[in-house]
Amino acid sequence: FIFHSLQAKMSRPVQARRLEGIDKNIWVEFVKLAATYSKVNLGQGFPDFPAPDFLREALTRALSGGNHMLHQYTRAFGHPPLVKVLAQFFEKLLGRDLDPMTNVMVTVGAYQALFCCFQALVDEGDEVIIIEPFFDCYEPMVKMAGGTPVFVPLRPNPPKDGKLMSSADWQLDPAELASKFSERTKAIVLNSPNNPLGKVFSRGELGLIAELCVKHDVLCISDEVYEWLVYDGKQHIRIASLQGMWERTVIIGSAGKTFSATGWKVGWAVGPDRLLQHLRTVHQNSVYHCATIAQEAVAQGFQRELMLYGKPESYFVQLPKELQQKRDWLVQSLDGVGMKPIIPEGTYFLVADISPFKSDVPDVPNSDEPYDSRFAKWMVKNKGLAAIPLSAFYSEAHKNNYTNFIRFCFAKEEATLKAASDILQKWKQEKTS
Ligand code: PMP
Repeated sequence: FIFHSLQAKMSRPVQARRLEGIDKNIWVEFVKLAATYSKVNLGQGFPDFPAPDFLREALTRALSGGNHMLHQYTRAFGHPPLVKVLAQFFEKLLGRDLDPMTNVMVTVGAYQALFCCFQALVDEGDEVIIIEPFFDCYEPMVKMAGGTPVFVPLRPNPPKDGKLMSSADWQLDPAELASKFSERTKAIVLNSPNNPLGKVFSRGELGLIAELCVKHDVLCISDEVYEWLVYDGKQHIRIASLQGMWERTVIIGSAGKTFSATGWKVGWAVGPDRLLQHLRTVHQNSVYHCATIAQEAVAQGFQRELMLYGKPESYFVQLPKELQQKRDWLVQSLDGVGMKPIIPEGTYFLVADISPFKSDVPDVPNSDEPYDSRFAKWMVKNKGLAAIPLSAFYSEAHKNNYTNFIRFCFAKEEATLKAASDILQKWKQEKTS
């Protein structure tokens, strides 16, 4: 009898309703495929070159220096030296006074800052506008909070005179964007520089978004993890610095992206106390705080950068310089084999058109899987080169809109980029011979 009742108990559903429809994630599959088959991995977004010496030295000092308390808990909402230096840094960037204790919160990567935003600010039935293509976690995070994602696409304009397309050619249609705002809209997610396209939103585009946010009393979750990775002398403009936006914006950043140390998982949220106080409630009741020792080392990294701000030795000046060269090299090499790249203005990603290689990977009509996804799987299994299909950055309803593109990450050693280029060149020769 006891045995039967135990069995009956176990047969009830175990999954919470909030997970319905979000339990599949393409990253799980693509990360596994890359681990199994890739010889060259330009898929997931992380550098394969070392984090800068000053950062690694800061971690070593924190680990073996005299302060053994760095191995213990620290302040929940951010290790004091880190929130202090972040506040100083963002005071400079935003031109306003910040309180380290109320305007900054440290999180476990930008990922957790995003999660805190959605949990803290989005209610059942609220709509959240997401610009496509988007960093994929926004959609499930909105849904988990009970909100409804509303998508608005960046639309590509064909480039003129046979030139390569730029990420700047992908633009919002102002009327279409405006049509998505209503009294149900709680927030818009902005990601500039944008993953996956590398688009850096212009002042005009940000102005339009800001105007709509103010008009409809909408919050802005501004994911700026690639803020330092902007090329060709372009400027990253912070939407929070636009008229009427500070009070309604949470800025999200990542030490992983900023200092090429994605495994450290240190991120932050910067914003007005009226928003951050609610993020703190979520953080307090879920993660509590992120590793003290990593926060200490990141704090020292920022202290160095504050001292060298704008100088040639600054990592925030050097890293984009180096990455721009890598970008240019990959652009040339992809163009050379006919895989037309969309030149990114920022980030360390590049989206390229796979059309000339399609004959090797036949289409399966009426398949539920977008073509680019099948192509990327075929490529890693047969050519050993890992990349991510662009359709992974679209909602379910729109994932078949652009299926001719894959995304490469170029935050890689020269040898890695060269190996990728060799694979593509060999592939192209095999096709033509
Ligand atoms: N936002 C964007 C746009 C990203 O590309 C990433 C990482 N790929 C994150 C947030 C997450 O950053 P972190 O690793 O600091 O959690």
